Amino acid sequence: MAADPLSLPPQPVPDAVTAPFWAALAEGRLAMCRCGHCGLWMQPPLERCRRCAGPTRFTDVAGTGTVYSFIVQHRATVPGYLDDLPYVVALVELDEQAGLRLPARIVGVDPAEVRCGLRVRAEFADLPGGDFTVALFRPLDES
Ligand SMILES: [Zn+2]
Repeated sequence: MAADPLSLPPQPVPDAVTAPFWAALAEGRLAMCRCGHCGLWMQPPLERCRRCAGPTRFTDVAGTGTVYSFIVQHRATVPGYLDDLPYVVALVELDEQAGLRLPARIVGVDPAEVRCGLRVRAEFADLPGGDFTVALFRPLDES
C-alpha cells in the first residue's frame, strides 16, 4: 500500500536559482550561493550579488557552523515528522561567513540540551516521499 501523502513531509520545489543547492545535496555536498566577484555568500540564493551585482554560483562549504537560533517542535504541525517529536529546527550560522544562516533540523542530541552557540556539522539524509536529500546538523564532538 502506498504511503498516505498527508503523512509525508513537504517536498522542495527547486527553481532555476535553487536547483544547484538540491543537486549538491543529492551528491552529499552542502553548497551555498556565493558571488564570483567579491566572494559574498548569500542565503537565500540570488542570481546576482546583492553587494556588487556580480554573477553568483554555488560553492561547497565545510558544513560546520553554530546554532544561531532554534525552536523545539512539540506538536505535529508539519506532516511526516510525527515519529520524531519533539525535534529541533534551528538557524545554523555556517562558519564561512557571519550571517550565512541555513534553517535545518538538529539531530543526535536531546532537544533540552540544544543551546545557541552549539557547534554542529552537516550530515545528509533522504527526505521521505521524494527524490530529495536534506542537510541535518549534529553536534560536533570537540572534546
Ligand atoms: Zn559580489
